[in-house]
Amino acid sequence: MPGLKFKTEEYTASNAAWRRPGRHFLQIPGPTNTPPRVLAAMARPTIDHRGPEFAQLFRDLLRDIRRVFQTQSPVIIFPASGTGAWEAALVNTLSPGDKVLMAETGHFAMLWMALASRLGLEPELAAGDWRSGASVEGIAERLRGDAGHAIKAVCVVHNETSTGSVSDIASIRAVMDEIGHPALLMVDTISSLGSIDYRHDEWGVDVTIGGSQKGLMLPPGLAFNAVGPKAREFGRTAALTRSYFDWEPMIEACDSGMAPYTPATNLLFGLRAAIDMLDEETLPQVFARHARHAEATRRAVEAWGLEILCRNPAERSNSLTAVMMPNGAGADRLRAAILERYDMSLGNGLSRLKDRVFRIGHLGDLNDLMLVGTLGGIEMGLADCNVRVNEGGVAAALQYLRRRG
Ligand code: PLP
Repeated sequence: MPGLKFKTEEYTASNAAWRRPGRHFLQIPGPTNTPPRVLAAMARPTIDHRGPEFAQLFRDLLRDIRRVFQTQSPVIIFPASGTGAWEAALVNTLSPGDKVLMAETGHFAMLWMALASRLGLEPELAAGDWRSGASVEGIAERLRGDAGHAIKAVCVVHNETSTGSVSDIASIRAVMDEIGHPALLMVDTISSLGSIDYRHDEWGVDVTIGGSQKGLMLPPGLAFNAVGPKAREFGRTAALTRSYFDWEPMIEACDSGMAPYTPATNLLFGLRAAIDMLDEETLPQVFARHARHAEATRRAVEAWGLEILCRNPAERSNSLTAVMMPNGAGADRLRAAILERYDMSLGNGLSRLKDRVFRIGHLGDLNDLMLVGTLGGIEMGLADCNVRVNEGGVAAALQYLRRRG
């Protein structure tokens, strides 16, 4: 990283000029560290996507990815980033002018809302404070007030990546049923899929949105929609324009193994490896590992005397932790110093949280020592930047990991 050097003679990762020894720590809340097995799988030569080998691969993937969403319904795989999956969910089910109720959990909920407006929908906001999960009561109130059923979809981000808060999807479903409101329930699991327990079928979700670059341990580039029967039914009359993101040709591929356009073949090789890895570890173990690493992280943050952005402990994310700076600023300087000195990337504060928080990603292919290294880098960076914190965050995490190991 020429130009970013410290004015010091002592050794730092950045003083090693253009060569940085060891491995970069990618501890943003996605994209996550891609494991060597996934990288190796993707390094295969690309094959003919109209040939029999690809058809078998694609059919198997379209069957097996359902386990990760905990659904029996079709799951569609688009070559796109997560934003494409947001768009696909809306254009396949809704018509211009339809009202959609969006839970304000943070930056990503607001981006999804802006996208809905651009598509010609009429979003309404169930207000939130960016420090908690979606307000179940807030959603219930809006739905109770909608006797004419103008609201066609309720959109919730399960794990709000900008704040580290989780929403209670089962309870949202329960109030929708209790009120008898027929809107679709759409849930973004981009930063929870494959790291925090998520049950498309059991929780009665109509469309689940996913992406490849977080719990699935792949690079960015694949977008997912799990499509329940009611959502597919809505699709028959939905009048928003759809072309690239049309579900039906993709659902046909579940049987034929033929994608309607060129698929992201090598990412799909990687997805095969990633699903195998999740199967080998088993989803309950994957969720338990994330819960354990999240708890160790929270203990470190609390020992430092810093505040976790998400107020309610029961809503704190197991895939990332957003940490508030003690004086309300300086997070970007801290992150820059940690990147330069210790070769580690942490997540930044987004929009209204800019510079006020840093986000620790603890999801994906992560083990105890990677987490300890992450927390060690933060503890050193805090001291380097003269942020007044208590010592002993790493020690608190170690103690927790050792005792529970
Ligand atoms: N939703 C959530 C919860 C996210 O965290 C992100 C990206 O981080 C997105 C949506 C947008 O996905 P992408 O940037 O892959 O388009």
